[in-house]
Amino acid sequence: MTQLLLVLPTVDEHHVDRRRYPQGIAFMDGQYLPMSEAKISVLDWGFLHSDATYDTVHVWSGRFFRLDLHLDRFFGGVERLRMKLPYDREKLASILTTCVALSGHRSAYVEMICTRGSSPTFSRDPRQAENRFIAFAVPFGSVANKEQLERGLHVAISETVRIPPKSVDPTIKNYHWLDLVKGLFDGYDVGAETALILDMNGHIAEGPGFNVFVVKDGSLRTPSFGVLPGITRRTVFDLCAEIGLSATAADVSRAEIKSADEVFITSTAGGIMPVTRIDDDAIANGRVGLVTRQLMNLYWQKHDDPAWSTAVIYP
Ligand code: PLP
Repeated sequence: MTQLLLVLPTVDEHHVDRRRYPQGIAFMDGQYLPMSEAKISVLDWGFLHSDATYDTVHVWSGRFFRLDLHLDRFFGGVERLRMKLPYDREKLASILTTCVALSGHRSAYVEMICTRGSSPTFSRDPRQAENRFIAFAVPFGSVANKEQLERGLHVAISETVRIPPKSVDPTIKNYHWLDLVKGLFDGYDVGAETALILDMNGHIAEGPGFNVFVVKDGSLRTPSFGVLPGITRRTVFDLCAEIGLSATAADVSRAEIKSADEVFITSTAGGIMPVTRIDDDAIANGRVGLVTRQLMNLYWQKHDDPAWSTAVIYP
């Protein structure tokens, strides 16, 4: 894996008192700002039409986890949406580092966003819009809280169908979340803590901000169609290869997920998180399984391995 050169903050940035920014730091229009001051125009197409792509990487104990992979996905999305960034990869990595360093947070949720922006002449032609880049580092947040990580999440399967890949390419990380949010409300309505929604063929797709895995007879499977190829999902494949477990991307039916030996979800916002109940059914004996525990432990161990993580240099 190539290591990125992370550039240190400039002298002026060193003088910002980091204790004043518990809510985090943003970067936009060439400036670092407290989160409360990071605002965009309501005319930005990112706001008006969800015409944007983004990526989220986390920092844990002062180190970015798999920053290279997040940058690859972000730059790929920007290119396929025909947007242009004013910064190259190295500068972008240095902006993200500076946001984290200035915020002072050792564990952070770090987002990079490119919106279509707006046209100076109010043209409706997206080619004439000036694209906007925004980044921010805020305190780390997880899909599952501590108690849920220990006992496993209760997830509902919603009837909501994920937006078709031919309409919005799910491999470009995007803010088309109305289906996912609807799924979440469906889940809350039946007393669950989060939800999974379906693909166009009625198979399990993904949830609001996470992919899902099933473990059956020692092998792992995760949906392949109509989902975001999550970096945490990819990390599970890499960990499985290291410890000799079989993992494949293929359809997962509702019946298969309910009769799995173990189920877990994956996200940058929380890592590998166990699921022990789906709708009204316990998964196996209703306890967090051994494969899930092993992968969770390995996942967090990798966070201080220089092959998988990059140090943030704090002022
Ligand atoms: N699926 C969707 C729709 C997401 O928005 C996300 C993350 O936000 C994921 C899956 C998980 O991806 P990652 O592991 O890269 O965080």
